[in-house]
Amino acid sequence: MDKLSIIIPCYNEQEAIPIFYDAIIKTANSLSQVQMEFLFVNDGSKDQSLLKMKALAEKDERVKYVSFSRNFGKEAAMYAGLSYASGDYVAIMDVDLQDPPELLPEMYQIITTEDYDCVATRRVTRKGEPPIRSFFARIFYRMMHRLSKTEIMDGARDYRLMTRQFVDELLRLGEYNRFSKGLFGWVGFETKWLEFENVERSAGETKWSFWKLLIYSIEGIVGFTTAPLVMAAFIGIFFCLVAFVAICFIIIRTMLYGDPVSGWPSMTCIIVFIGGIQLFCMGILGEYLSKTYMETKRRPIFICKETNVAARREEES
Ligand code: UDP
Ligand code: MG
Repeated sequence: MDKLSIIIPCYNEQEAIPIFYDAIIKTANSLSQVQMEFLFVNDGSKDQSLLKMKALAEKDERVKYVSFSRNFGKEAAMYAGLSYASGDYVAIMDVDLQDPPELLPEMYQIITTEDYDCVATRRVTRKGEPPIRSFFARIFYRMMHRLSKTEIMDGARDYRLMTRQFVDELLRLGEYNRFSKGLFGWVGFETKWLEFENVERSAGETKWSFWKLLIYSIEGIVGFTTAPLVMAAFIGIFFCLVAFVAICFIIIRTMLYGDPVSGWPSMTCIIVFIGGIQLFCMGILGEYLSKTYMETKRRPIFICKETNVAARREEES
C-alpha cells in the first residue's frame, strides 16, 4: 500500500487547524487505498496551534507534528516537512484551505497512472486579493520569466504532490535562502499543472504583508538569476559612453566659443544622478554578497524543538 504524506506548515493557525483536519479527513476517506500521514509543522506559533496539533495526534495516529523553536518562515517549514515525511508520495498544503483538498484524489490519480513526477497547482484568478498585490505579483512573474532560465509559473501555489524521488532531490538542495517556487522548477522532472480558481482563507488572517512578499520576491530574483549584476555592468558601460560623447562635445564647444563658467546646475544634477545609479548598483551587489554571506555560515534551516515523528517511526519498526 502506498503511503502519502501531507505537509502542512502552520503559523498562528489555531482556528484553521481543526477546520483543515475535518476537510482533509473527508478527502482521506475517498483515498481509502492509501495510507495517509498528516505532518503538521508548527513554525513557532505564539497561539494554541501546537496544542491543537497534539490533540489531533492523540486521537488520530496518522497525525504527526514537528514544532520549531521559533518562527523560521514557511520555506523552512516546508523543508522540515519534506525531511520528516516518510511517504512514497508527498504533498504540501496550506492549512487555510486555500489549497483545495478536493483536488488531491485527482492529483494522486495522475501521479500514479501517468508518467509525471510531480502534480502542481496554480490559481488562474486572484480574486479576493488586494489589487496592488496582484499587480506586483504579475510584474514579478513576468520579470522572472525573462530573467531566469528556471521555470517559475505565474500563480503557482506551493500545493503539489511529488514522488519520493522528486522529494529526495529537493532535499539535496540544502540552501539557506530558499525560494521553493524556483527550486521546484530547478530540479526538473515532469510536472503536470492543474488550475483552479482562487479560494479565500477559511479562518485567521494572512501572514504575508506586502513588505514580506517584496523581500521574498528579492529572494527569488537573487536566488535564480544573476541578470541584475549584468544589468549593473551595462548601466556602467552606457554611462561611460554618454560621458565620452559629452567630453568630446564640451572640448569642441570650448575650442569654438571659449569657456564661460556656467552650467553648474546641470552639473549638480548629473553628479546626483550618477551618484544615485552608483548606489543602486552597489545595492544590487550588496544583495548578492549578503546572500552569499548567509549561505557561507551554514546555519541550519530550522531547529526542531519537539516532534512525535521519530518516536512513531521506532514504534513502527
Ligand atoms: N506560514 C508559515 N510560516 C510563516 C508564515 C506562514 O508556516 O512564517 C504558513 C501559514 O500558516 C499557512 C501558509 O504558510 O499555512 C500560507 O500562509 P498564508 O495563508 O498566510 O499566506 P497567503 O495564502 O495569504 O499567501
Ligand atoms: Mg493562505
